[in-house]
Amino acid sequence: MSDLPITNCHVHAFTMEHVPDRYIRFGLLNVLKARPVRQALLWTLPRLLPLRHRDVLERAARFAAISSVDNGQEGILRTVRGYYPRGARFVVLPMDMAHMGKGRPAEDLPAQHDELARIAALPDLAGTILPFATFHPDRGLAGVDEVKRCFDMGFRGLKLYPPLGFPPDHPLLMEQVYPLCVERNLPVISHCSRGGVSHVGLDRLEEAWRAGRGGAEPRRFASPHAFKPVMEAFPDLRVCLAHFGGAIDWRDYLEQPMDPDRADLREANWLTAILDMMGDPKYANLYTDISYTIFYFDENFPALRVFLDDAQVAARVLFGSDFYMAEMERLPERSLSIRLRHALGRDLFHRIACENPERWLTGTAPAPAPEPEPAPKVDDAPPIG
Ligand SMILES: [Zn+2]
Repeated sequence: MSDLPITNCHVHAFTMEHVPDRYIRFGLLNVLKARPVRQALLWTLPRLLPLRHRDVLERAARFAAISSVDNGQEGILRTVRGYYPRGARFVVLPMDMAHMGKGRPAEDLPAQHDELARIAALPDLAGTILPFATFHPDRGLAGVDEVKRCFDMGFRGLKLYPPLGFPPDHPLLMEQVYPLCVERNLPVISHCSRGGVSHVGLDRLEEAWRAGRGGAEPRRFASPHAFKPVMEAFPDLRVCLAHFGGAIDWRDYLEQPMDPDRADLREANWLTAILDMMGDPKYANLYTDISYTIFYFDENFPALRVFLDDAQVAARVLFGSDFYMAEMERLPERSLSIRLRHALGRDLFHRIACENPERWLTGTAPAPAPEPEPAPKVDDAPPIG
């Protein structure tokens, strides 16, 4: 087995400074910054609020709580590093929430990128922090220049978050950004789940859509199908559709009947859509990660283990956790990664946490060690004498 390090392909370090001021109403985010207030609210409000508002509140509390970690992004990254063995690496994914229609963050994207570049260059973190650049088409050509600037600083790939209000085949991406990724041999990761934050316009469409008032599904920009034109135009581009379709689609797949003759149902579920795309040679550079989704460990691990029996899938799944978005959901970070290592066994864990990430990041990885020759069975033994 090669001595590649563990790579967590999906962590976040952005802080309250990067969250827009109207992310939630009533300035609640500011109120939540004070720890005693946050604790009191989190204890009281869930008992009074319906589930949907509770989700918003808990997410906001997560932003607020992590932001109280000293030293901003560096403090957050030192925290996640503390849960892993020495030498582990972390793909750090920034967010550009300035264009989601909820006001401006205190710190703009270039400053967020600059801070990641500074942290990645710290002598004691050298080689462990792998920053990605992010892009929102509303920034226009200046946004493309910002991606270039990050790649010139040694960033290791591109992060996209289409629910912030753009399709993955937006012309600026197709004509400028993806060609740059291919030229620099750098991978892309894109949010692919029905959960998470979204543009204010999509929120309104979603309410109408959920109420049955029609329109296209607002979250469709995050769907695996939205990436098909990208992967068909750039077959060499290594694309990770994060979250393996998301916990909602895993739950539906595991709990709802699905007529095996109805291809449209397999397409509509983002988990089965990704599995089917992995079997299609047109999408040979498609990867996925298990971040967030795998925090529902008891529900989702058995299915993950079964999917990994397929060689195509086992070569394309990446270990990631979604720290700090997921930590509050079920399991502390170290507990999750050790459970996963224990339940998958050493070889399979090594594939998804070491080999596959290296191939996704660089396009190459050491060939897996050859299978040991099976011991001859008694019947195969040459006749004696
Ligand atoms: Zn994430």
